[in-house]
Amino acid sequence: MNKNKKIVFDHIGEEIKDIVYNYIKAKSFTYSKGEKEAENYFLNYFARIPYFQRNKEFYGAYPILGDTFHRSVCWAMRKGTLDDTIVMIHHYDVVTIEDFKLLKPLAFSPDELEKELFKIKDTLQPEVQEDLESKGYLFGRGVCDMKGGGAIQMALLSYYTQVENFKGNIIVLGVPDEENLSAGMRSAVILLSELQDKYGLQYKLMINSEPHQRKDLKKGVFSLGSVGKLMPFIYVRGSLAHAGKVFEGFNPLNLMSSIVRKTELNMELSDTVGQEASPPPTWLYLRDDKVNYDVSMPLSVSGCFSILTLNQTPSAILEKVKHICEEAFEEILKEMNDSYEAFLNATKQPLHKLPWESKVVDFSNLYKEAYETHGELFEQEYKKEIKILYEKRKNNEMSLIACNFALVDFVYNFIDDLSPKVVYGLIPPYYPNVSNLFFDQLDDSIKMIAENLNDFTWKEFNQEYTKEYFYTGISDLSYTSISNAKQVTKALEDSMPFFGSLYDIPVTSIEKIAMPVINIGPWGKDFHKLTERVLKEDLYMRTPRIIKYAIDTILKEKYDNS
Ligand SMILES: [Zn+2]
Repeated sequence: MNKNKKIVFDHIGEEIKDIVYNYIKAKSFTYSKGEKEAENYFLNYFARIPYFQRNKEFYGAYPILGDTFHRSVCWAMRKGTLDDTIVMIHHYDVVTIEDFKLLKPLAFSPDELEKELFKIKDTLQPEVQEDLESKGYLFGRGVCDMKGGGAIQMALLSYYTQVENFKGNIIVLGVPDEENLSAGMRSAVILLSELQDKYGLQYKLMINSEPHQRKDLKKGVFSLGSVGKLMPFIYVRGSLAHAGKVFEGFNPLNLMSSIVRKTELNMELSDTVGQEASPPPTWLYLRDDKVNYDVSMPLSVSGCFSILTLNQTPSAILEKVKHICEEAFEEILKEMNDSYEAFLNATKQPLHKLPWESKVVDFSNLYKEAYETHGELFEQEYKKEIKILYEKRKNNEMSLIACNFALVDFVYNFIDDLSPKVVYGLIPPYYPNVSNLFFDQLDDSIKMIAENLNDFTWKEFNQEYTKEYFYTGISDLSYTSISNAKQVTKALEDSMPFFGSLYDIPVTSIEKIAMPVINIGPWGKDFHKLTERVLKEDLYMRTPRIIKYAIDTILKEKYDNS
């Protein structure tokens, strides 16, 4: 964009196209130094806008503390008069392009990629073929998830900087790490809290522009909240024995398998609110501690699985997990004893039971057990170990998951009772479930926002939109409000070994900035895949108009911005 170009709203699509084509050129793969490239693009873009040249204090990069890649949160604000403020947020990290194979060099060049995809059209799904032929979609990594939405927000903010005597305030936030641990958004909340204090802002609404997916192809979707996510970890300690003496040992694989079977896709761990349900849990990581093959059973197995929530608290989930582990333990002991009895019968030996008992503890109780035996010494060593792991994590030598189980193993050095045991807890990240449903008092313009926007889209574009209370794709909107903050913090402190050291959630700031949310994004398909694409008509034409209508409606209720 040249220096003094005016954005005429009718032509905002051209500006969006210009931004998205350049924004995606930044190879900002999640949790990599490439995210700095997207930061640069964001900042350079606003540096060229006359309003920000005159008001340099209204945009910038807000560093994420202790970050491996020294990443920042990017922000820009149209500061009008009066206090009501709308925040638009997008993430500029993208997932990797492994499945692009030979097309990798074209992942960030939509037009060239489209041509090549056309050549291999017959190998693609029928729906992709149709969309290719229609010419209605933009293909490429990040165009849909979600630099397309980001481009809409940036173009809109530029437009609003040109509105004279603007009443109200609009902030655009671009954040890294959404596809990883949301380090960007967790810092952005602190930034929002600082801006709130500095300028006396009243946060009315946060708008995200993640792509929407359609169940009914004729209807768009607005989301008025976002699912929560937590990740229980399970560590099963067995008792080692030679494979020829199985009854002298306790194979942790056996018990862990049962726990996996009882939790994977278990709808009892899923949440239902109205007609919406969170997808049931799935395991993301599972391995034993064996480094080399030998003929003994492994000593321990560790793993973690993801649970999505609509309304359940971490403590309620952990209670269920504990119960499942206990049930699995009892069943395995019974099976082992049955088998042992059969073996003793077959070998004409006197009958007796195996010595094992069911033991399931959470991480805080394992910690207590070590502390009770070794006291101060343990506590000091534990703190040292946390520091060591913090450094390893910061230097990217170890993953958070590896750090977590290394810490469990470390605590085990101070445990005297080495009989088989299940230890459970939580591994980062934790995404609170949020929904406008959980707000007691909302302005009418916000309570009815989905209905009002649907009236607008119906009238303007002949396009119907439905609403859902939870975006199930997991999003940064999770950090815009929190219910039962004290209880949640307690559960995290007890069960998440790295809470407050390697990982933190700014609970106090979240409570301070708490605001309702909406996701208004373009229709997109096949996120994270080779065929990721976004509907051009939404990207360039409809979605910016819908968001503008939302902003104008909310700020106009109090202020006349016409
Ligand atoms: Zn996304």
